[in-house]
Amino acid sequence: MAAVPPLLRTDSARGEFSPLKHFVVAKKTISGVFEQLLNYVTETSKFVEETCENKALEKIASLDQKLEIQAYAEKLAVIKEVLARRHMKVAFFGRTSNGKSTVVNAMLRDRVLPSGIGHTTNCFLSVEGTDEDKAYLKTEGSDEEKSIKTVNQLAHALHMDESLDAGCLVRVFWPKTKCALLRDDLVLVDSPGTDVTSELDSWIDKFCLDADVFVLVANSESTLMNTEKHFFHKVNERLSKPNIFILNNRWDASTNEPEYMEDVRKQHTDRCVNFLVEELKVVDREQAPNRIFFVSAKEVLNSRMHRAQGMPETGGALAEGFQERLKEFQSFERRFEECISQSAVKTKFEQHTIRAEQITEQVKCIMDVINIEAAEKRVAALEDREYQMDRLDFVRTQLRLLIDDINKKIKSISEDVESQVSNAMGEEICRLNVIVDEFHADFHPAPSVLKAYKSDLLSHVEKGMGKNLAFRCSDAVNASVQSTQRYMTESMLPLLPAACHSQVHLLVPNRKLDLSYDLNCASLCSDFQEDIEFRFSMGWTALVHRFLGSVNAERALKLVDQKIQVRLRPRLPARCVAGHLTYFVSQASLPASTPSSGPPSTVAQPNHDTAVATQEDLMVAMATNVASITSRTSMSAIVVGGVVWRTLGWRLICMMASLYGLLYLYERLTWTTKAKERTLKRQFVDYATDKLQLIVSFTSANCSHQVQQEMMTTFSRLCQQVDQTQKELEEEILQLTAKVNQLETVQKQSKTLRHKASELERQLETFSKQYLQQQL
Ligand code: GDP
Repeated sequence: MAAVPPLLRTDSARGEFSPLKHFVVAKKTISGVFEQLLNYVTETSKFVEETCENKALEKIASLDQKLEIQAYAEKLAVIKEVLARRHMKVAFFGRTSNGKSTVVNAMLRDRVLPSGIGHTTNCFLSVEGTDEDKAYLKTEGSDEEKSIKTVNQLAHALHMDESLDAGCLVRVFWPKTKCALLRDDLVLVDSPGTDVTSELDSWIDKFCLDADVFVLVANSESTLMNTEKHFFHKVNERLSKPNIFILNNRWDASTNEPEYMEDVRKQHTDRCVNFLVEELKVVDREQAPNRIFFVSAKEVLNSRMHRAQGMPETGGALAEGFQERLKEFQSFERRFEECISQSAVKTKFEQHTIRAEQITEQVKCIMDVINIEAAEKRVAALEDREYQMDRLDFVRTQLRLLIDDINKKIKSISEDVESQVSNAMGEEICRLNVIVDEFHADFHPAPSVLKAYKSDLLSHVEKGMGKNLAFRCSDAVNASVQSTQRYMTESMLPLLPAACHSQVHLLVPNRKLDLSYDLNCASLCSDFQEDIEFRFSMGWTALVHRFLGSVNAERALKLVDQKIQVRLRPRLPARCVAGHLTYFVSQASLPASTPSSGPPSTVAQPNHDTAVATQEDLMVAMATNVASITSRTSMSAIVVGGVVWRTLGWRLICMMASLYGLLYLYERLTWTTKAKERTLKRQFVDYATDKLQLIVSFTSANCSHQVQQEMMTTFSRLCQQVDQTQKELEEEILQLTAKVNQLETVQKQSKTLRHKASELERQLETFSKQYLQQQL
């Protein structure tokens, strides 16, 4: 018995480290990578979608990028599904009764497929694992799971099912728990027999394009038939370098003629090598012997079934050379498993891995583009924000300085206007008589006419003075107001955005300032009372007025009136008057403030305190006037008068009286309406002058206030505009800050996603190196 080569296992069970595990582990690995990749692309797709839809980011990610990544995600989801269904597939071909079913059963270590009776149908039978405990089958076009308990039942079912067409597929699901081979994602497909059909092309398309390994089960008792060869030629046309194993089955029969065994084996081997190397060119000559085996599937199956049932491995009859054939079968299994797992990993995962690498690369590129775009936009936004912040700073500082400067200017101009108006008003008051003289209206002393006359006079004065003041001041005031407004506008212009420059002139009133002097003469002179009664210039009242001055005369006349009316006191005796005069004369030489011992006690004292005071004041005034007269020419006149009196006597008195009468007559006749009007105007001028003097400072302050108001209004409008600019700048800075933050986030995210893509690329590369580039 030949020693078991290290490659081979004992036949008791499949080793833990079956080469099929290579595929299983690779599938798990690549599925894991695809799972991560799909999650990654889904996450990236969401990120790109959000970035694309964020208007503030100005299309950092384009719609095309969004759609591209979405398409990748969909593609990956499909591939993931496909990967989950991926398995290794071996298809057995050969003429009917060459032992295909027996080989499958031997490999599965159980009688799964019916054999020996030949295929009563032209169906393909696939055997794959199920996680369920029971076996069942599914026919093509139906999802119904038909339960099968024994292989005979399966045979019966296949035989009875008339709906099964030639070339259809019946899938047999066999519990994985019963068969280790099926646990490793292997699907075995038994064909009806290359000799029973002419529909080879459709078979190949339907069952062979995804097969990883083809096993030609040949009969070692005969030579390779052309029908078998023809089929593989067809396969070779459709697939590039298919993996083909040739099992020369029924090798146990060779024991019948042991002397020819080696020759027969050599003959078969040469033909098979030629077929594979020369005809099909699927393998090189050195490797070809590793694809050709001489086995007895029936023996292996029996042996394994016996072992499974606890019987001796060889069954009963131990045929000559069984162990060698068993080992060769095991050797086939080993080579087959290595081949199929490596081939399946390549064919089932290589394209997907490449696609995954491409997708990862593309996504990485998109992340790079977004990252660069975000970085550029962020730098631009930062620069923009810096500029806006500088501008805001400039506007704030300049505005502060301008407010101080312009306030000072307004104050100075207001002061100028105040003094200008004050001077002009002073001058106008001085020439008030001119304005009053210019007034002409019907005059009559009758109260109603007089009232209308005065009212018209007042409005004439109001109008005339207003006009004169305007003439004197308005132009100058307007010029300085406009120049200040121009200065304000020019100073503020650099603080406003260029877009506002053309609008700024709208903020400055395009009109002349119409100063309102608002003298309000009507109420100012409302208590003006004219005095146009006839008064004889040499009359008692006039003389008293002339003698005592207007204020004291009033008092004196009142006192006299009181005495006459009440007659409470006796007339003063002449000597008393003389006494008074003597007293006044003596007092005249004294200073006005010097306290006197008072007049003689003969002067009656009024009971009332006020009367006493008035009388005393009157006396003092009379004394002062008398003293004045005395001090000048009066004393000499009296002396001369006394001399004349002595010489002329009563004639003189008569003459004087006539003269007095003539004077009275003259004055009475010249007291006409014109004279009354003149008097009224003169009285009004005196009165209004006093009153207007009182309001000079008020009016000039009012004008100054108007100017101040006008300029302040313009300035505050300009300030409002600057405030608005400041607000806009602040708003813009806030928006730019938000944009910078968003761009920073996009930048970080795209960088993180790029790193993830690199990590996935590394995993794919590792997978590729480990499973796709390495030869077992
Ligand atoms: P299939 O039509 O290709 O699937 O062939 P089967 O597996 O049904 O086998 C046909 C017949 O050949 C059955 O009776 C098997 O028992 C028998 N057979 C299969 N393999 C061997 C073998 O290795 N040696 C011998 N002697 N008979 C075999």
